Amino acid sequence: MVNRLIARDVAYEYQNGVRALDGAALELERGELVAVIGPNGSGKSTLLRCLAGLIEPSSGTVEVDGEAVVRLPPRERACRIAVVPQFLPKLLDVRVEDFVLGGRYAHMGRWRTAQKQDRAIVRAALERCDSLDVAERRMSELSGGQRQRVLVARAIAQAAGVLLVDEPTNSLDPEHQLAVFRSLAELVRGGRAALVVTHDLNLASQFATRAIVMQSGKTIDSGPVDRVLTRAVLEPVYGPHLHFGRFANGRPIVVPWDATS
Ligand code: ADP
Ligand code: MG
Repeated sequence: MVNRLIARDVAYEYQNGVRALDGAALELERGELVAVIGPNGSGKSTLLRCLAGLIEPSSGTVEVDGEAVVRLPPRERACRIAVVPQFLPKLLDVRVEDFVLGGRYAHMGRWRTAQKQDRAIVRAALERCDSLDVAERRMSELSGGQRQRVLVARAIAQAAGVLLVDEPTNSLDPEHQLAVFRSLAELVRGGRAALVVTHDLNLASQFATRAIVMQSGKTIDSGPVDRVLTRAVLEPVYGPHLHFGRFANGRPIVVPWDATS
């Protein structure tokens, strides 16, 4: 079980010279569901890839329970950290169930054969993401929203202590948006940690224990949603076209609003 993921003073420069991260830092502990918010291009996805050990920071460190993530052997890393990418690199011509079974790779024995238990875990993860009905279909045949849910199912099946999730609700209808966040919240209550990049400030408001704000490659704020999802914090980041309200339980609502319309 993972206890803590820590990033310190992380910088990352792409080969084209774009400095996507420039002093990003965060801590994520088990039992936390942390939302990472910030404008397009502020470095959220790059930070997530650094946290996952998929790319190595130009400077700074990322450690999971005191060990550098980039130094962990892939299987060891996969047991501790599961990633839900913003996009799949290519449309895969594999059965959905086999794709999700790929998430069990790190747990399989030397011969990489799936046991009955792996298949049961895969079915349970698909069910949790309301995707059992597409289990026999091919990944390349799914709608954007269906594919998104299968990606989450794969990460759940991986059973890692930390889930790093990049914009999981983008192509989902409202009910499935809620379902994804509910699943993540449940996993977190069960002792995992989740970091979720999202533009959906209102889902972050309802489900996140904390929000981190990114701007220009830096983590500029971190705190409870009640304090972070406020005009004082968000207007300097997103500009003035925001309307603030409250849900019945008092949590903040933030929606884009054009006062001239
Ligand atoms: P976000 O997820 O917050 O929208 P990203 O981390 O994707 O931001 O991007 C941060 C910056 O890095 C942007 O300026 C983006 O154009 C640049 N960038 C992202 N991916 C690449 C890449 N593969 N090669 C070069 N530049 C990139
Ligand atoms: Mg992104």
